[in-house]
Amino acid sequence: MEFYPVSIEKLIEEFAKLPGIGHKSAQRLALHVLNLPKEEVEEFAHALVKARGTIKYCSVCGNYTDSDPCAICGNPNRDKGTICVVEQPKDIIAMEKVREYNGAYHVLHGTISPMAGRGPEDIKLRELIKRINGDIKEIIVATNPNIEGEATAMYISKILKPLGVKVTRIAHGIPVGGDLDYADEVTLSKALEGRREI
Ligand SMILES: [Zn+2]
Repeated sequence: MEFYPVSIEKLIEEFAKLPGIGHKSAQRLALHVLNLPKEEVEEFAHALVKARGTIKYCSVCGNYTDSDPCAICGNPNRDKGTICVVEQPKDIIAMEKVREYNGAYHVLHGTISPMAGRGPEDIKLRELIKRINGDIKEIIVATNPNIEGEATAMYISKILKPLGVKVTRIAHGIPVGGDLDYADEVTLSKALEGRREI
């Protein structure tokens, strides 16, 4: 039984909706917020509303951006002939930290998962196919090394190869079942270096 006023209960409830936040953590966060200076809370709330209001998906690669195309797609120094395919925008951050990759990206916003009833039409695959033209030299598939990530990589290879484009997969420096964004920079750099054709 909780004895918090309704507005605090509501705040706890909202925090508990966030990924990885249980009821206890939500309670701790809510009480922390109540102890902050009013201006800081206003700044926090404003940042949430502003990010949600201005951030959109890049119309080229599907990355988060506040201007379209995103900074990577709009950068003339990036090699647009190489596209690294990732599952989520956070994976771009992981790849960028390596500082060795200078190509473009494509965010699938998910994986193919027959178990979860997600097919090729449920991810941004059609958008990737549309980007394939004579200037594309290589597609590096950097989906996560788990069952869904592998299945997605195989499917992409099967679809793109007949279009005459080289499709490679990053090496398994990343532990199987691991996530791209949890891999350290050296591991990810090695994985990129050791990529092979699929
Ligand atoms: Zn972009």
